[in-house]
Amino acid sequence: MKHQYIIPIFVPHLGCPNDCTFCNQKSISGQTKRVTKEDVKNTIEEYLKIFKENTYREIAFFGGSFTGIEKEKQEELLQVAYEYVKNKKVNSIRVSTRPDYIDVEKLKLLKKYGVKTIELGVQSTNDYILKKCKRGHTFQDVKKASKLIRRYGFDLGHQMMIGLPESTKLDELNTARDLAKLKPKIVRLYPVLVIKNTELEKEYKNGEYEPLTVLQAVERCKEIYYYFTHKKITVIRMGLQSTDLICSPENEKSEVVARTISRSLWTASRR
Ligand code: SF4
Repeated sequence: MKHQYIIPIFVPHLGCPNDCTFCNQKSISGQTKRVTKEDVKNTIEEYLKIFKENTYREIAFFGGSFTGIEKEKQEELLQVAYEYVKNKKVNSIRVSTRPDYIDVEKLKLLKKYGVKTIELGVQSTNDYILKKCKRGHTFQDVKKASKLIRRYGFDLGHQMMIGLPESTKLDELNTARDLAKLKPKIVRLYPVLVIKNTELEKEYKNGEYEPLTVLQAVERCKEIYYYFTHKKITVIRMGLQSTDLICSPENEKSEVVARTISRSLWTASRR
């Protein structure tokens, strides 16, 4: 199998009117300015320079909610990416988005520009927990979007979180069971990080939210990982990528507040 490489393009908070209590996309991605087609081109070119020959390359639009971006802007960004697929410098494109931002029209647009994989930020399938985090969607939205994505021939990905407010180990196992039934091809597991300037930071500081310890997070991720692996669903990542901003809370520059998981737990592949 060819080595796989990702060209990450962050579109922080673009297309997302939401404010999930744990989210500050600008901090997570370290990026605040609006992404342009020139940015996309420059990023792709930079990465292509360092990739070895004969590798599998994928352009991934991360952060924000891609299908929530206005149609013209989606097309502007996708057009650039699709050129690289057409001239065979890149193999595929993936986007991540919210479950309630999927419908037939949006899927047709993604098809037109050769998108292969759609990852949905699910986080939990427990509606009470989703509400507590102000996700603004329900498990029903996840079911509907997942089925539609598969029906239109895309690879389906799910992202779930470990240690959300009021979420227990059992809630997380139930989420994994619910997701497995929707047949995702890939899954990402993200233990919660308490990030600066989020509602979760306030909850943590006033004692309403207690983050998992590193050991607890590892234990919980391990069980979910085994469950998905047993179901032949690939867990492609556990934990956010460690960066200058996403690092130990003791580091002055860190955007992470609580003393919990502060770096990528483990990376299953280069995806
Ligand atoms: S939907 Fe995603 S990008 Fe939007 S606030 Fe929630 S986590 Fe952040």
